[in-house]
Amino acid sequence: MKVKDLEFKEFISAEAIDQKVKELAAKVSEDYKDKTPLLLPILNGSFVFASDLVKELTVPCRISFVKVSSYNGTQSTGQLKTLIGLEESLFNQHIIIIEDIVDTGLTLQKIVEELRALGTKSVEVVALLRKKPAREKSIEVKYVGFDIEEEFVLGYGLDYDGLGRNSKGIYQAANGQ
Ligand code: 5GP
Repeated sequence: MKVKDLEFKEFISAEAIDQKVKELAAKVSEDYKDKTPLLLPILNGSFVFASDLVKELTVPCRISFVKVSSYNGTQSTGQLKTLIGLEESLFNQHIIIIEDIVDTGLTLQKIVEELRALGTKSVEVVALLRKKPAREKSIEVKYVGFDIEEEFVLGYGLDYDGLGRNSKGIYQAANGQ
C-alpha cells in the first residue's frame, strides 16, 4: 500500500486488532467492575481504537475526547505539553487515558502527573501499541495491546502526514524506510 511517498506493508491484521481490543476491554471491565470510569482518548490518533474499545466495555463509563497541545515552557528544555479540551471535573474520578501508541512516553508521563494533581481517584493508561523506548524507560502503561520495536506504523487511526488513518489494519513502512 502506498501512502504519499512511502510503501507500507501489513503489520497487524484487522482480525488480530479486533481480538486484542476484546481482550483489553475484558481486562478493563473486570478491573473496573464496581466503578464508573471516565475515559479520556487522546486525539487524533486514538479515535478508532477508543470507539472499538468502548463498545466492548461492560461497565458504565463516560467518555471525553482530549488533545495534547504544545506550548512554550518557561524552561529552556524545550516544549512542554498539556491537555486541552477537558470539560468536566476530574475530581474523585477514575480516569482511563486511551492512547493509540506510546513511543517515548514523555508526554504521557506528564499528562498522568497533571491528572493525578487534579484530585482524581486513579489514573491508568490503555495503549494499543507500545514502542521500545517506553518499555525501556518503564513508562507506566497498565493495559498494552501490542509491544512493538521502533518501526513507524500507520492505520487504525494512526497517520502518516495526515493520511492512512482509515485503514482497518496497522501497516509499517516497508524496507526500513
Ligand atoms: P511519545 O510522546 O510517546 O513519544 O509520542 C506518542 C505520539 O507520537 C503518539 O500519540 C503518536 O501521535 C505519535 N507516534 C509515535 N510513534 C508513531 C508511529 O509509529 N506512527 C504514527 N503514526 N504516530 C506515532
